[in-house]
Amino acid sequence: MDSIEDEMMAVFKEAQKKFELYEKFYLGFSEKAKEYLKHKSREYKKILSDIQEIILPAIKGNCSRCTDCCCRLHTKEITIYGSVGCFDHVDYLLVRCDTILPDPCYENAEKNLCPFWSDGCILPTDCRSYMCIQYFCDTLEKELDMQVVSKYLRKAALILTNFSTEECMS
Ligand code: SF4
Ligand code: SF4
Repeated sequence: MDSIEDEMMAVFKEAQKKFELYEKFYLGFSEKAKEYLKHKSREYKKILSDIQEIILPAIKGNCSRCTDCCCRLHTKEITIYGSVGCFDHVDYLLVRCDTILPDPCYENAEKNLCPFWSDGCILPTDCRSYMCIQYFCDTLEKELDMQVVSKYLRKAALILTNFSTEECMS
């Protein structure tokens, strides 16, 4: 293993632990907290679905035959090995609250792939992290109306910014 792979694996192991804590955090919520979460989740998932509707034709037309897949833990442009599926605790809670997510395949890391990758993303289309939903490669950016996409992304970002973790702990 060379040094970048050593570093990647060490950081990724920490990311796994953090990801597992998100689930423990969620399981400890009160019913009141889960109601708040469901309300916020509906808003977040609706926007993700709206974005997916706009971007799916371009994704279907390009991603299946892409030879430089972006769902890798590190590429020349981006590194995502500090997380599992690019989630932080807020977007994880928002997608998790009414959905059991597929188990991450951590062995993918040895092939420099995201743990939710298996010939495509295995997460439901409305259960993506903000980091994933806001990433577009040059090819997709050229095909999409990015002004429209950005409008929805700003709405999603606002939901995340206004999300109150304290409310979930009350
Ligand atoms: S988003 Fe772009 S880089 Fe990523 S898999 Fe699709 S075509 Fe390839
Ligand atoms: S979670 Fe899905 S979209 Fe995001 S990097 Fe992983 S495979 Fe790709």
